[in-house]
Amino acid sequence: MKTRSEYNLCKWCSERQHIKNYRLQKFAKNCQICRGLWNQLDEISNRIIQATRNYQYDTFLIGLTLDPSFYESEDKFRSRFKIRGKENIKTSLLREIRKNFGKTSKKKADLDYPDITINVQISRRFETTVSVSSSTVILRGRYNKLKGFQIKTKNSTATNTMEVNQHHIEKILKKVISDKFNSDSITFWPIGKEEPESLVLGNGRPFYVTIKNSKIVSFKQTLSIQSNGILFRLIEKIRSLPNSAPLYVKKVLIVVSFEEKLKPVDFRNLTDSGILMIELINRKNKNWKFIYGINLKLKTPRKLELTITCDNGLPIRKFIEGEDADISPTLGQIVGKKCSCVKSDILDILNEENLLN
Ligand SMILES: [Zn+2]
Repeated sequence: MKTRSEYNLCKWCSERQHIKNYRLQKFAKNCQICRGLWNQLDEISNRIIQATRNYQYDTFLIGLTLDPSFYESEDKFRSRFKIRGKENIKTSLLREIRKNFGKTSKKKADLDYPDITINVQISRRFETTVSVSSSTVILRGRYNKLKGFQIKTKNSTATNTMEVNQHHIEKILKKVISDKFNSDSITFWPIGKEEPESLVLGNGRPFYVTIKNSKIVSFKQTLSIQSNGILFRLIEKIRSLPNSAPLYVKKVLIVVSFEEKLKPVDFRNLTDSGILMIELINRKNKNWKFIYGINLKLKTPRKLELTITCDNGLPIRKFIEGEDADISPTLGQIVGKKCSCVKSDILDILNEENLLN
């Protein structure tokens, strides 16, 4: 039977066993548990530094896969000397790697929401493989359509135009983000429907964007990027997408032209009604949107300028011109005269918090 002193252990492995009242004669280089793995620590740390050098991040998590032969040697030793409940070689090594890497990189370890996850694999012969993956970046932003914004709307129907327009904006944003973040997996989550002819002014239309496999994971400052007549502002990084769309209210400037001349009495129902409830009906369900306030300005006897504050989801053009039974009442019905929407621009989109301020 081998005695403890007949085992060759290095300082690291020997201290991990916490053998009481026992001093090894000398610490061995040819350690029978780690076989010199301890001396590879700097090399392993270097590998991790190399693998993570192109990432911009603040926090990390390291996982370690160690060849089973290392545990087996340690288990053999421990069962021989009935050593139980001590930290094993992998836990100890991982802690050292994490400490070492944290010191060199000056980044923090984060178990719950790490910016990047580093996986280290160490083979029997100390061959070290490092892989890095970044967590999905979720940003909250807003965009404004500026005066120069143009899209081709030839040969498309009204609903189609809306989609084409939304798609167009999405394409511009994806291009902008993929250049900036060097990622090809970007998902755009706009809030509310895009109305093609309308500008979006004020704070802009809110959106979320998720970016996968990005090299830039830390995001601290608002980023403004202008491209193709659209100003995107990436405001902040958030932990997850909201479960339900937050409530937004928009303020819209609309110019409406009427077929007949208008009389002051025509507007009474518009200005005296308090909050107006508009019913939207589609194949599946009914839905209600509210108009919270309307300001009127008669520009000419047939032209009216309205500033309305309403739920973000209210389709403006439909509300003005709608003739189908899927929206009621329409502006034409309230005023009692046929009308059409000359132009509508979104002055601002606010969420509940903005409204309270
Ligand atoms: Zn050792």
